[in-house]
Amino acid sequence: MDDCIFCKIARGEIPSKKVYEDAEILGFHDINPQAPVHFMLIPKKHIATLAGVTPDDAGVLGRMLTLSGRLAREQGSPDGYRTIINTGRIGRQDVMHLHIHIIGGPEPLGRMLPKPNV
Ligand code: AMP
Ligand code: ZN
Repeated sequence: MDDCIFCKIARGEIPSKKVYEDAEILGFHDINPQAPVHFMLIPKKHIATLAGVTPDDAGVLGRMLTLSGRLAREQGSPDGYRTIINTGRIGRQDVMHLHIHIIGGPEPLGRMLPKPNV
């Protein structure tokens, strides 16, 4: 996708602070971190949203989740973390290239959702 910001990051056309890279997956710090540890894992292939994945995507999605624990520990979240995949309009997804937020730090996070939404 020519005009997708995360495709551009995956191709190296926009700089990012990488935490992980292999042939299929890139991990990089969120530009606007919400916690002491906040990075994202993306498939290098453009997949717009979790709601649109196909069985062909199961492998890379599984590998992204499988990587998350080790990378979170390496980045400074030693005892757990939160994974968030915002999906579509209802999920308030801003960047339409599937990404897993990995959020954590040395101390427990706040509530999963702000109170008015519960
Ligand atoms: P979402 O609302 O789940 O689509 O989240 C998009 C995330 O992408 C936000 O947390 C942004 O801070 C982050 N973001 C946007 N542009 C960049 C960028 N160039 N590098 C790193 N993170 C970015
Ligand atoms: Zn993309």
